[in-house]
Amino acid sequence: PIAIAVATTQTTCPYCGVGCGVSASMKDDGNIAVKGDELHPANKGRLCVKGSALGETVDLDGRLLHPKMRGADGQMRRVAWNDALDAVASKFSSIIAEHGPDAVALYVSGQLLTEDYYIANKLMKGYVGSANIDTNSRLCMSSAVAGHKRAFGEDLVPVCYEDLELADMVVLVGSNAAWCHPILFQRIAKIKETRPHARLVVIDPRRTATCELADLHLPVKAGTDVWLFNGLMSYLAHRGARDNAFIDAHTNGLNEALAVADADCADPATVARICKVDLEDLLAFYQAFAETEKVVTGFSMGVNQSSAGTDKVNSIINCHLLTGRIGKPGMGPFSITGQPNAMGGREVGGLANMLAAHMDLDNALHRDIVQGFWASPRMADKVGLKAVDLFREIEAGRVKAVWVMATNPMVSLPDADLVQRALQRCELVVSSDVIEQTDTNAFAHVLLPALAWGEKDGTVTNSERRISRQRAFLTAPGEARADWRIICDVAQRMGFNGFDFDGPHQIFDEHARLSAHRNGDADPTKARRVLNLSGLTGMDKKGYDAMQPIQWPVQLLSDGSAAGTARVLEDLRFTHADGRARFVPTAPRGPANLACEEFPLVLNTGRVRDHWHTMTRTGKSATLASHIPEAFIDIHPQDALLYGVREGGLARVSSRWGAMVARVQHGGGIPRGSVFVPIHWNNQSASDARVGALVNPVVDPVSGEPEFKHTPVAIEEF
Ligand code: SF4
Repeated sequence: PIAIAVATTQTTCPYCGVGCGVSASMKDDGNIAVKGDELHPANKGRLCVKGSALGETVDLDGRLLHPKMRGADGQMRRVAWNDALDAVASKFSSIIAEHGPDAVALYVSGQLLTEDYYIANKLMKGYVGSANIDTNSRLCMSSAVAGHKRAFGEDLVPVCYEDLELADMVVLVGSNAAWCHPILFQRIAKIKETRPHARLVVIDPRRTATCELADLHLPVKAGTDVWLFNGLMSYLAHRGARDNAFIDAHTNGLNEALAVADADCADPATVARICKVDLEDLLAFYQAFAETEKVVTGFSMGVNQSSAGTDKVNSIINCHLLTGRIGKPGMGPFSITGQPNAMGGREVGGLANMLAAHMDLDNALHRDIVQGFWASPRMADKVGLKAVDLFREIEAGRVKAVWVMATNPMVSLPDADLVQRALQRCELVVSSDVIEQTDTNAFAHVLLPALAWGEKDGTVTNSERRISRQRAFLTAPGEARADWRIICDVAQRMGFNGFDFDGPHQIFDEHARLSAHRNGDADPTKARRVLNLSGLTGMDKKGYDAMQPIQWPVQLLSDGSAAGTARVLEDLRFTHADGRARFVPTAPRGPANLACEEFPLVLNTGRVRDHWHTMTRTGKSATLASHIPEAFIDIHPQDALLYGVREGGLARVSSRWGAMVARVQHGGGIPRGSVFVPIHWNNQSASDARVGALVNPVVDPVSGEPEFKHTPVAIEEF
């Protein structure tokens, strides 16, 4: 790679949703040095091992550097950009003309920058006229989004990182933060050093690295979280822990939600039995929660990735609403996002059920606001296909063209063999990517080379709503282009106006202006959104380049400066039309598919400490690969004996949907009756290594998020 300048560049880490600031510079030997940015509020100079190894991942090995198209003989050949863009635009246009706008789709990614995401969403919803644009954030955050919208009326994260340090109790649910959000976990660990009375409770079926710091670990049976939090709600409500003044002034729906919680979960002994936790431990947690005013409940994939994910989120939020512990320092429910820009994608409507600037597709006023602002020829008027359904519809032949950006659905989606069949059947598969050889790209007809981290320019938003710049410090290699530019080039070839931008600063400005457009003015009861970036409008390239990390909403002050907001619900004004939060009744229900005689074990999936997604970047680093060099199946030693597999040997894990092979290991804290397999390895690293092939494609009925944490499987020696 060639550095743009020798000077240090302030940018952000492209991995997890903590969104750490990174200082990147060129060393004398030509390699890239990275260190934590002391001035970035998310990490204050710290970096975890993944962030620290970023310099090892920017080489050009394996990069897709030129547009390519598959010829009639099945071979991929280099083509000119114009030919590739013309081919994509003309095939999309002809399919739309013949079969309608819903016959095409975009499948995008939390790896995209906000500006890329904004343009992709604008193209599909405002110009193609279909909401068939979904993102791999569907697999990650969509249950949190749906839970926030049900409770608050908008996808709001009320907590900031500082609240973790101010809390007297942090509860982590379904989160191995020590491995998956290391810098956030280090901030929690630091509090334990300085304020020994602060407590950490971890609720997770596995005894993970995060539990090492925990005062209490509740190893709940997978899928029973709603029982646990309904039980907590019932306990709090009937033991004097309600905040009646807050409930009366700021909420609706307590009686209905509490009746549901009381129905099955009023008796802690019953809850302990269903959740398979020790009754004394359960009561210790309930009592500590009741007695501690400053509680932050952080939740992550163990909550979201479930066929009851949205209810799990709301069962947690219900407990915070009941105790009035929201919008104040040191307390609140906290969705810890997985990807670097899962939040930014949500802000610009990257999900098939959302519009830009936190507006909703199923709201006529919102559609009118967005279409009027864009002056676009049309506007999607119904929710599009969510990720799992999208690939089903491709397999069924009803969606005939898909453009995949910055993601690898052949590895990451559940029932990944169905994804393969879908891509094989699809008339046109376009992939914008930085890496040439991936499981998905093997089925593409057109490959478009995109810029990678270090080369691209834009913004991302982290888990605490903080917008940060990701800045380029390397020149674009080969013919690679920014994603936003590729999308604009195709849109213009399809005959659409509104895609003429000189740089990401102009796209960001349009996004910021839309967030403020008719926000509360036209109809204060229905159009008001908390997401408002009015303080960031009007920036030219210089201002955008100098932009410092800031948390939305961002107000414009009278002196022309911008003021961010640490806690969005301090005014306790929620986005529902009546300004009140909602208690949501959450009737407990178990996972969709239970273990059975044929598939007696439950598969749980997740990350390892030193790899990211499908390893296209972290796989390049010898430092990172040395932690865990190959895929594994973690199983309890007694289950290994029972099913005839041995530690260090190869085993085949199979489900109704598919199979994979990996090496058996013990020691991952897995309970009896389960296996754990990491999500990262794929068929580029070893054959039959994709765990996605096994995962059941059942989704949450509200959010559409798949049940990655609970698939019945069998195991046998390979
Ligand atoms: Fe990057 Fe996340 Fe590590 Fe921070 S905690 S350095 S954002 S991977």
